[in-house]
Amino acid sequence: MASGISILGSGSLGNSILIHNAENGILVDAGFSRKEILNRLNLLQIEPSIIKALLITHEHEDHVRGSRILADHLGISTYLTDETFRYLRSSNKIGEKKVLFDPGSPFQIEGFNIEPFTVQHDALQTVGFIIGTGDHKIGIATDLGHLNRLAIQRLRGCDAIVLECNYDTSMLRDSERPFFIKKRIMGRHGHLNNEDAINAFDEIITEKTRFIFLAHISLECNSYELVRNLALEKLKIMQRTDILLNVIEQSRPLNTVWI
Ligand SMILES: [Zn+2]
Ligand SMILES: [Zn+2]
Repeated sequence: MASGISILGSGSLGNSILIHNAENGILVDAGFSRKEILNRLNLLQIEPSIIKALLITHEHEDHVRGSRILADHLGISTYLTDETFRYLRSSNKIGEKKVLFDPGSPFQIEGFNIEPFTVQHDALQTVGFIIGTGDHKIGIATDLGHLNRLAIQRLRGCDAIVLECNYDTSMLRDSERPFFIKKRIMGRHGHLNNEDAINAFDEIITEKTRFIFLAHISLECNSYELVRNLALEKLKIMQRTDILLNVIEQSRPLNTVWI
């Protein structure tokens, strides 16, 4: 069966990714309001009732803004780690139904195989996900300061990879942001810069890779065009211009990509 990747948007103002087939889907993060998520699904002509579960990567607002209201609205369970759950419960961000998972322990939802894995980021317990749809594997790692061995190992072999490409180092250095914030973003538990993300292609792209989605791109310290050009240049050097590249924007969803 064909697998759909519908990225509703990505960036520091909100993140939400739907992995689905014609009947069922799994939403990774609800970083926009319920209204906005429903709007964006509508733009993509996706029926919200296909969403059978919400997975949470970590507790930052740009990943959980609409989590409680959306999950309760759809009557679905929220899947998250114990530490993330405790934090979200205390801030009333969690829906009525929840299922806890351990990073490193795979589980199944409606025929989707979910493998959460730990990534380095400045939240309580951040995870990326590999979602197996039966025929395909989709890897998602959107908030990480450093692509460690584990993350590389998990993303290798996926048909499609959604990877953070957050900032251009010189644009961040020259920005008006306070020093401590710059330091946080650039740290190994912050966000992935263009250079590290693009260089990672050498390690995560295999002969199986057919789609790359670059996500969580900073509006102030990066540009969609720069990211696209750097990535295309790299794919050309790697002689992998067969790979379909998508640069994910903050303000609008990307048309569903079917694999
Ligand atoms: Zn984020
Ligand atoms: Zn984050």
